[in-house]
Amino acid sequence: MEANTKTSKTISLENYGITGATVHYNLSPSALHRITIEKGQGVEASSGALAVNTGEFTGRSPKDRFIVKDDITKDEIWWGDINIPFESDKFDALYDKVVDYLSGKEIFARDCYACADANYKTNIRVINEYPWSNMFVYNMFLRPSEAELENFEPEWTVVNAPGFMADAEVDGTRQHNFAILNFTKKIALVGGTGYTGEIKKGIFSALNFILPVEKNTLPMHCSANLGKDGDTAIFFGLSGTGKTTLSADPKRKLIGDDEHGWTNENTVFNFEGGCYAKAINLTEESEPEIFHAIKKGAILENVIMDENGVVDFTDTSITQNTRVSYPIYHIDNIQVPSIGRNPKNIFFLTADAFGVLPPISKLTPAQAAYHFISGYTAKVAGTEAGVEEPQPSFSACFGAPFMPLHPARYAEMLSKKMQEAGVNVWLVNTGWTGGPYGVGTRIKLKYTRAMIQAVLNGEFGLYNYDDYHIHSVFGVAQPRKCPGVPDTVLSPRATWNDDEAYYKMAFKLTNAFRENFKKFESDASEEVRRGGPQRYAF
Ligand code: ATP
Ligand code: MN
Repeated sequence: MEANTKTSKTISLENYGITGATVHYNLSPSALHRITIEKGQGVEASSGALAVNTGEFTGRSPKDRFIVKDDITKDEIWWGDINIPFESDKFDALYDKVVDYLSGKEIFARDCYACADANYKTNIRVINEYPWSNMFVYNMFLRPSEAELENFEPEWTVVNAPGFMADAEVDGTRQHNFAILNFTKKIALVGGTGYTGEIKKGIFSALNFILPVEKNTLPMHCSANLGKDGDTAIFFGLSGTGKTTLSADPKRKLIGDDEHGWTNENTVFNFEGGCYAKAINLTEESEPEIFHAIKKGAILENVIMDENGVVDFTDTSITQNTRVSYPIYHIDNIQVPSIGRNPKNIFFLTADAFGVLPPISKLTPAQAAYHFISGYTAKVAGTEAGVEEPQPSFSACFGAPFMPLHPARYAEMLSKKMQEAGVNVWLVNTGWTGGPYGVGTRIKLKYTRAMIQAVLNGEFGLYNYDDYHIHSVFGVAQPRKCPGVPDTVLSPRATWNDDEAYYKMAFKLTNAFRENFKKFESDASEEVRRGGPQRYAF
C-alpha cells in the first residue's frame, strides 16, 4: 500500500541556496512514475514497474567518496583510501556550484527518515534533480505519516544532482562525479552520477559514524529476518554474497535487506524502508519473493526489455549490476515495524571463488572476530569463459566502503554484543564448489537455503563435536550432515575430486587471509589472531 500519497504542504528550497526552482514536494510514487515516463526518462515494464537507465554509472564509485575533514571527523575517522578527506572550503565552494546548477530547475524534494526504531529516528530531506531518483528515495527510506510531515524538521540533507559535472582541478574532486559527506553541515552531496545506490549508501555511511560515536549502537551491513518464535537471524556479507536473496524467506518475516543497527536495548532495527535487489539472472522459480515484488511501484535499473516490456534478466549488456528497488511492503512476509530482538544466529556470507571454504561451517567467537575483521569475499576476474584467476577481496566488517571508523571499533562492539547475546556464528560460502571459478560451479541456491534453514531449525548439533569435522586448513567446524543437502556437498575437498589441487588452492587463500590481516594484527588479541586459518594442513 502506498503511504502518504498526498500532502498539501509545500516547501521552499531558498534557504538551501536553490532559487527560482519549481519544487515538487513528497509526490506519490505513482505521480513520479508518470512524470518520469512523460519526461522520457523511463518506460513501464510489462510487470508495471518503472524501468530507468542510471546513465554513465551503474554502480557506486568508491574512489569518489569523500568525507569533509573538520572538528567532528578529524580525530575519529579512519582516513585512507576508503575514507578520503575533503577540505571544508572546497566543499562549500562545490556546494554553491551545485545549488546554483539546481536553481531555476524543476526539483523533486522528499522528507523521509532512516532508522525504524523511534529512539534512533533520523529525519532526512532529499533534494533530487530527477523524478525517478526521488521515487527511489520513497522506496528505500522510511515514509513519515502525514501528521509527521506537517512538523517535519530535517536533520540531514541529501543534495543529489546527477547532471552536474564537477571540474576536478577546480573543485578538488578526483573526476566529474562525487559523493561527499559533511558531518558539520549534515549534508551528503552527490553529483555527476545517477546511480541511486549512492544516495542510500551516503546516509548509511553517515549513520555508521553517528550511531557508534554518539549513540553506542552498532551499525551493520547486513540483512535480517525473524522466525515464528521471534528469533532474529542476521546475514552479513559484501555485495553479491546473498544478503537480499537469503533474507527473503517465505517462512520468516523480513526485517530488512541491507542496513541495521544493534542497540544496547537488545533490539535490531532496519535503517531503511525498502529493498534494493540484484536482478541478474533473477527467476520466478528460484527467487519468487523478489520476482513478485517487481510490480507497479518498483524501479528497475539498467535492465534490457523486449518490445513488450518483458525484462530479460540474463541480459547484462548494460551492466552486471542490474537492480530493482521496491518498498519493503512489496514483500509478503514482513515484520512491522522493522525491528527484531537480539539475534540468535549470525551468518557471515562469502562468495568464495576459490571454491575452498565449506558451504557452511560454525565459528568459535575468536574465529568470528577474525572473519568479521577480514571480511572476505572474492571477485571473479571477468565474464569470459576459460580459467581466469579469481581475486580475493577483503573488506573489513563486510562493508569497509561505508565504515568511517577503524574496523576494530565495530569489531569490538560486535564481539561484546555477540558474547552477551550468546549467538552462534556461521560462515556460509555462497560461492563456488567443485573447483574454483572457471572449473567448479556456484553452489545451488536451494542447498544454501537448506543449510540456513537447518541452522534456524536447530538441526545441527550445536555442541556435539562428533557432528562436525574440523577443517584442517581453516579450523572451522563443518557439519557432516544436513537435511536436503548431499553429504559430499558439505565437504569442499570431496567436491573437488583432487585433494592436491584442493589443498594448494586452500593454502593460496590462507596466504591471502594472512597477508590482509597483517594491518590489523597489532589491534587484535592473540586469541583473535588464532581465529584465522591454520598454517599447517596435515
Ligand atoms: P548488495 O550488498 O550489493 O545488495 P547482496 O549481498 O544483497 O548484495 P544479493 O542481491 O542477495 O547480494 O545477490 C546474490 C546473488 O547471487 C543473487 O543474484 C543470487 O541469485 C545469486 N546466487 C547464486 N547462488 C547463490 C547462493 N547459493 N546463495 C546466495 N545467492 C546466490
Ligand atoms: Mn542487497
